[in-house]
Amino acid sequence: MDNVGDNLRQMMDRNELNKRYQTLMNEVMNDPDVRRFLAENRSVLDDEAIQRSSSELYEYVQEKKKFQQKKGMLAPGYRPQLILNHKRVGVTYVPTPELLERQRENEIKSRIRSMDMPKDIRDVTLADIEITVERQEVLGKVFAFIEEYLEAPKKFHKGLYLEGPFGVGKTYLLGAIAHELAENGFVTTLMHFPSFAVEMKQSISQNTTGEKIDAVKRAPILMLDDIGADSMSSWIRDDVLGVILQYRMQEQLPTFFSSNFNMKQLEEEHLTVSQRGEDEPLKAKRIMERIRFLAEEVSMKGENRRHTE
Ligand code: ADP
Ligand code: MG
Repeated sequence: MDNVGDNLRQMMDRNELNKRYQTLMNEVMNDPDVRRFLAENRSVLDDEAIQRSSSELYEYVQEKKKFQQKKGMLAPGYRPQLILNHKRVGVTYVPTPELLERQRENEIKSRIRSMDMPKDIRDVTLADIEITVERQEVLGKVFAFIEEYLEAPKKFHKGLYLEGPFGVGKTYLLGAIAHELAENGFVTTLMHFPSFAVEMKQSISQNTTGEKIDAVKRAPILMLDDIGADSMSSWIRDDVLGVILQYRMQEQLPTFFSSNFNMKQLEEEHLTVSQRGEDEPLKAKRIMERIRFLAEEVSMKGENRRHTE
């Protein structure tokens, strides 16, 4: 008795399964994209081939649904697509334009080596910079630099020394220049100079000062942000900054600066006085000669654009 009951139940279960399978396959075969694909490839795909492809067709419809609902996809960013695969149906996954754009943007960002900079600095592009009357001069020089650099990247091009009060957008502009160069395949190192100076002091105990200076001085394009924001020891001035600038001058590598001080103030008020309070005007002059060789001073005016103070 029991046996008969079991068999009956198994048969009913199988029937139930069959019905469910039929419903699913009906849905699959009625999918407009599936129908179009099968119609277009009818000369290659006979009924048997279609039958043998049911799991691929099912996968396609399921993944398409997830793709449209943007949920639970096997491969996020990829759209399923039907293809012919040795007289059968296959499913392939093609990257969406959004994914390609995101990958391109990540590749660009990877060319901007930012050290101790605001985290969104790599997102700024030249298109984000408003062109105001006050900015015309500096933007003109920025565009000229980029044009000349892209034309002959091996030649020496003077960078810019952006000078101006807090919040006018100097750092932001450096980020935008780095982005434009990155879009064209060039790597820029953008670093907050005061933080780098602190890191250098710490590196002494780890014996890594030399290699750190080496990496920075050889950067194809270097941007030193906020130079002069913190007082500098003679060691940072002469043995770190001086060494980096000397190398870049010899190798003629593009170098940018940003500072709240103009060149004259930087020399007289910042670089001359050592932390011990001694006046070292000759050493300051030596550094300034290198900065002047590497970059052209441009002043940035305008309102303070920082909203959170
Ligand atoms: P600085 O380095 O001169 O002190 P920042 O570059 O840090 O100034 O700019 C301060 C803030 O102002 C930035 O965080 C940014 O949000 C905003 N900002 C700067 N320049 C622009 C610009 N051209 N367009 C829009 N916002 C800007
Ligand atoms: Mg800044």
